[in-house]
Amino acid sequence: MNKICKEEECTGCMACYNICPKNCITMEYNKYGELQPKIDESKCIHCNLCRKVCPNNSPINKNTPVTAFATWSKDENDRKTSTSGAVASILYKEAIDNGYIVFGTSFDENLILKHSYTDNKEEALKYKGSKYCQSDIGKNYENVGRFLKEDKKIIFIGTPCQIQGLNKYLEVKNIDKENLITVDLVCHGVPSQQYLTNYINYLEKKYKRKATNVSFRDSENYVLKLFNENELICSITKDRDLYATAFLLAMLQRESCLDCKYATSNRVSDITIGDFWGIQNDDKINDEEKHKGISLVLVNTQKGNDFFNKCTSNNVFYEERKLEEAINGSVHLRRPSKRNEFRKKFRKQYKGDFTSTAKKVLRIKMLKQLVRAYLKK
Ligand SMILES: Cc1cc2nc3c(=O)[nH]c(=O)nc-3n(C[C@H](O)[C@H](O)[C@H](O)COP(=O)(O)OP(=O)(O)OC[C@H]3O[C@@H](n4cnc5c(N)ncnc54)[C@H](O)[C@@H]3O)c2cc1C
Ligand code: SF4
Ligand code: SF4
Ligand code: SF4
Repeated sequence: MNKICKEEECTGCMACYNICPKNCITMEYNKYGELQPKIDESKCIHCNLCRKVCPNNSPINKNTPVTAFATWSKDENDRKTSTSGAVASILYKEAIDNGYIVFGTSFDENLILKHSYTDNKEEALKYKGSKYCQSDIGKNYENVGRFLKEDKKIIFIGTPCQIQGLNKYLEVKNIDKENLITVDLVCHGVPSQQYLTNYINYLEKKYKRKATNVSFRDSENYVLKLFNENELICSITKDRDLYATAFLLAMLQRESCLDCKYATSNRVSDITIGDFWGIQNDDKINDEEKHKGISLVLVNTQKGNDFFNKCTSNNVFYEERKLEEAINGSVHLRRPSKRNEFRKKFRKQYKGDFTSTAKKVLRIKMLKQLVRAYLKK
């Protein structure tokens, strides 16, 4: 049982796991495969640091964005291999050129999503692309704290609840944040790793090939692709893809995501990045650029502003836009995803097999999607 905050409010940010001086917190999977902390009472010294660091137990300080930008990388390859306009790569490149250590998330050899860090540009390429499941933070708040104490410069990209987990960790540890740039994503919520692993296993059996990498989207469309090294195993468009359909319906997100405290225009980070959906209605931006993907950047602090200004000198398109345009166009800058009947049915029927449960719950929805796609041809 989660004794640090209410289970349904726990985001799995792992700040408690990072701060425990006795290492007596483990992160365990609940019945939906969602990470929840568990305290080993026999080792606990009742210092209360885990409750103090938990972002759910104190008011959340947020920054009001100062400026919004539409941005894309003029490096065509970067843009093609990123999710929207490749702004994450722009930030990483600028950071590494200036001696920063960068934190991001990538799949390990078992296709488990984990945060890690690097100061090498080639290695940072593995962070490219949105991965639609929850990333395991590991001990990376502790790593950030250690580097900051050594006067190193850091940029950390993650979901808003992860950024707030990091903020609280550094606050409770009294570590100076001057050398840290935090970047959060506009966030639709995260499914558990258990669902994704189950779906990948199902596809591996179906296509009789072992997957070593997975991607979820190109700049315009949700297309789930599995690879063995660089060879494509399968490419499944949204109409046929159970996982993307379930993700977009908010059927798989953690309970905390449906009451997300961070789905607002005020932000916990220095810089916020997302897809610039609001710009799709602007006729002055040509369709080709829209197809290639346009990133939204919200600059939320002076530190964020100084850093983003440095990024714009090289090979980067950027244009200041109205804040209202960004906020009106991006639903998760206004509210969390909504509960619905699909989610209710899925959670009621789920016994550990994502694929068979989703097939049952989404049978009619998938059929309708297929018919619609067929008629469009
Ligand atoms: C789960 C999830 C939900 C999202 N929901 C929305 C949304 O509703 N609206 C919107 O506008 N944008 C959303 N995004 C952000 C969007 O998909 C793009 O990541 C963003 O536009 C930046 O694109 P890019 O081309 O610059 O970078 P990308 O190449 O996509 O780089 C993404 C960066 O985010 C990090 N990252 C990727 N996956 C995760 C993860 N699971 N957890 C933590 N960090 C991660 C990577 O380390 C990398 O630094 C979401 C992203 C994720 C991961
Ligand atoms: S009270 Fe202290 S020792 Fe016990 S679990 Fe929390 S942080 Fe660890
Ligand atoms: S600190 Fe994060 S992982 Fe720990 S209980 Fe709070 S929300 Fe959950
Ligand atoms: S929706 Fe909110 S709680 Fe869920 S992963 Fe995103 S920021 Fe965290």
